[in-house]
Amino acid sequence: MLSVYRAGQLLLNLEKNKMSRTVFIAGNWKMNKTAAEAKAMIEELKPLVAGLKDVEIGIAPTFTSIGAAVEAAKGSNIKIGSQNIHWAENGAFTGEISADMLKEAGVQFVIIGHSERRQYFGETDETVNSRTKACLAANLQAVVCIGETLEEREGDKTETVLETQLKGGLAGLSNEDMADVVIAYEPVWAIGTGKTATKEMAQDTQAFCRKVLTDMFGVETAQTVRIQYGGSMNAGNSAELVAQEDIDGGLIGGASLSADTFVELIKNAIS
Ligand code: PEP
Repeated sequence: MLSVYRAGQLLLNLEKNKMSRTVFIAGNWKMNKTAAEAKAMIEELKPLVAGLKDVEIGIAPTFTSIGAAVEAAKGSNIKIGSQNIHWAENGAFTGEISADMLKEAGVQFVIIGHSERRQYFGETDETVNSRTKACLAANLQAVVCIGETLEEREGDKTETVLETQLKGGLAGLSNEDMADVVIAYEPVWAIGTGKTATKEMAQDTQAFCRKVLTDMFGVETAQTVRIQYGGSMNAGNSAELVAQEDIDGGLIGGASLSADTFVELIKNAIS
């Protein structure tokens, strides 16, 4: 049995680990906003988030809006990301974009393996893995998305699905690589549906993800990896979700499309 002293130490360590992982809130704009609209919203957002401490803020616009977004975000604490990346350096890959192109455009992070990419564009754990490796090789931060469908949750397959996605998507990465990897746990049934996982459900599932990361990379590395929650996160639930031990921020769709709702969500998450 654990002594009271040892249990206290463990609790202190957990608290320390949580505090050492800076909250990361990233907006995924999906196929929304022209370059002019992206510029306008980032200009509106800049003064509202200026000076916010202990939080990393990101926006991932569409490819054609990246240039305007990077320009508008200059001198601010908003970093600009991309919603995809290809693993090849260049070549006959119509519709794709390379790491060098993204770097040149000023991108700092890349969302990889979003459930919409998996569902509509044939993304697999293998392609997620190739994209992640290309992203890291270019010193870009990778936000690797995982999540179960409703059918999988109801069929008691959540843990198997998440373990497979983590082991496949992160295969062959080193502990050093993991310094630039963020995991976004996004239950597919909660994305854009208004149905959020309860804080208990999200915490239990993300603790499981961290256990898989521990098996793969050891406890020290696993404790430094940030795990975002995504799926109908909004200003009303961001505080209770991000307060959970294993929830280190959010990947936000709908609520990131307006400056007011996004800022309120961020402020509540770090309150
Ligand atoms: C997403 O697409 O990553 C997402 C979480 O969307 P929403 O916040 O709209 O559910």
